[in-house]
Amino acid sequence: MTAFTAPLRLRLDGGALVNNWRWLQRSSGAAACGAAIKADGYGAGAIEVMGRLMNAGCRDFFVSNWAEAALLEPLLEDGVSLAVLHGVRSEDMEVALTSKARPVLSTSSQIARWKAAGGGVCDVMVDTGMNRLGLDWRGDVAAEIEGLHVDALLSHLASADEDTGLSRIQLDRFGALKASVSAPRYSLANSAGICLGQAYAFDLTRPGLALYGGVPRAEAQAGIAQVVFPQAQILQRRHVPAGDSVGYNAIYVAERDMEIAVLNIGYADGYLRGFSNRGMVKAGDVALPVVGRVSMDLIAVDVTAFPSLAEGDWLDIDYALPDAAALSGLSQYELLTGLGARFDRLWD
Ligand SMILES: *Cc1c(COP(=O)(O)O)cnc(C)c1O
Repeated sequence: MTAFTAPLRLRLDGGALVNNWRWLQRSSGAAACGAAIKADGYGAGAIEVMGRLMNAGCRDFFVSNWAEAALLEPLLEDGVSLAVLHGVRSEDMEVALTSKARPVLSTSSQIARWKAAGGGVCDVMVDTGMNRLGLDWRGDVAAEIEGLHVDALLSHLASADEDTGLSRIQLDRFGALKASVSAPRYSLANSAGICLGQAYAFDLTRPGLALYGGVPRAEAQAGIAQVVFPQAQILQRRHVPAGDSVGYNAIYVAERDMEIAVLNIGYADGYLRGFSNRGMVKAGDVALPVVGRVSMDLIAVDVTAFPSLAEGDWLDIDYALPDAAALSGLSQYELLTGLGARFDRLWD
């Protein structure tokens, strides 16, 4: 064991993660509820997330690529599937053919490759209007996938977090696909799609964001709780006389004598410059404003009202995702996946 501890950490609430999954499962009705754990479990840590959700009963996991799958394969229990959303490039075939994970095939050349290699069980992605990955819904999907051993036929919603007509159009297109293409399971909804109602759930849902405390739509507000709590240590406390500036480019000028604490977190940790002069740090229930520009590895906060806060103390960064997104101009997804490698990740 290393004796190093980092001066910044993520407190991760494993109970909240599981409760969020259960809420999404209930909201999925009769459909199974899977979990998107790509990008290292949206920054939380894919191994820890997968273990906890498997214990809770989750049986379907999704990552983006084969390196992510290789990390998680040793955890796979019988009856649990791990699907690789980006399919198989020719460079992936050697790994993919011996992997316990399965590809989600998106193109005719991926399908040809998988068939020629006798690849076994796979999923197939059909694009129903996002124009991202997948076979075109207008094509003859049944003919294109003939001869494959398909488990789930997937599509992905482009705008489920907004009230636009597109979700309904994609739902209708996917419903028509279900009628014309036979597969054991059909799957359409991400976190926001689950909030649109059980018509969107089909046989399997694929939430990511909401598992980790993201609130994609108002419907999820009451059911979803924060999972990821960044904390940073005070490296220095200092007096700033009225008229002095704080940090790079002097974008904050003290109007009165004040006290600041300099914390060990910065944009290289994912705490980006959108929080400059806007972010909030908490001492108990009291919010301390970030003053000045976020540095690569440091921020300063106003602690004038807290004489007892000292070098070595830990403070909570206010990271309730909907609020932090509104403050910073970043999406809730970016706030999670940007969290860097320098945090100690501590689960409770
Ligand atoms: C990332 C992803 C998801 C999860 O989406 P969220 O919006 O995070 O719930 C589901 N399906 C696919 C295809 C994805 O790429």
